Amino acid sequence: MIEDSLGKYLYYANLELVRCCIFFGGLIFFLLLELIISDRKDSIPKPSRWITNMGLTIFNCVMIKLVFAVLIINCAIYVTEKNLGLFNMVHIPYWLKLFATVIFMDFMYYVMHMLNHQIPLMWRFHRIHHSDLDMDVSTATRYHTGEMIIATIVKIGFVFFIGADLVGLVLSESILIITEQFHHSNIRIPLLFEKVYGVLFVPPSMHRIHHSVENEERNSNYGTTFSFWDKFFGTFLTNVDQERIWIGVNGHLQIKKLRMHGLLKMPLLPITK
Ligand SMILES: [Zn+2]
Repeated sequence: MIEDSLGKYLYYANLELVRCCIFFGGLIFFLLLELIISDRKDSIPKPSRWITNMGLTIFNCVMIKLVFAVLIINCAIYVTEKNLGLFNMVHIPYWLKLFATVIFMDFMYYVMHMLNHQIPLMWRFHRIHHSDLDMDVSTATRYHTGEMIIATIVKIGFVFFIGADLVGLVLSESILIITEQFHHSNIRIPLLFEKVYGVLFVPPSMHRIHHSVENEERNSNYGTTFSFWDKFFGTFLTNVDQERIWIGVNGHLQIKKLRMHGLLKMPLLPITK
């Protein structure tokens, strides 16, 4: 029995290790590409933003992993053992269940992202992500701890709803990590690749519009991995001159107020247009 549980947890620890390797591997891979074939000129020096963004990432990892990692793992185990959730009510092949988990989880991220923009309380937290004055791979993990906690609670609810197992959860999160790192990256990409990739997925140019200071542009392109949610729900926007996009949030454009302690306090500040 004890050996059984130990074996199970070692298996889950390995899955977690895979996710960590994907995160750091992607971070280094896209950073190297940004250094070799960068697209836009940085408006402020990279190191000053990276210290803040990586500091926030490490802070969140410690806070979230300590509190929620065991909880979410146990939820996925519980759901699988008790056969709970939508996908466990129907007999479908395992590969189809994994595929459906990836699609459904991405839809959940789309809805959550839209709510982050539409509900003022949620925007108070989400604007920390948007307050980065340049967009690169480090922006992909620049989130306020409060937003991470809300997202994790919603994710747990969704695991119960669809009946995701741990492999499905790790698979969907690994795809999310890589696609999110890619669409935040500041790398020069052939137009043809962007067009072909953009048929199904979110390319950097599409997500750059979402990081614009202009409200109308910011309230579009909520997709994370797949671009079809935006196309289907009418939030898709591409006809924007990429050269004139100004990245950031109005009212939060001074770099000296965007250090880590400033970002952690930002939800308490009034909302600006
Ligand atoms: Zn956003």
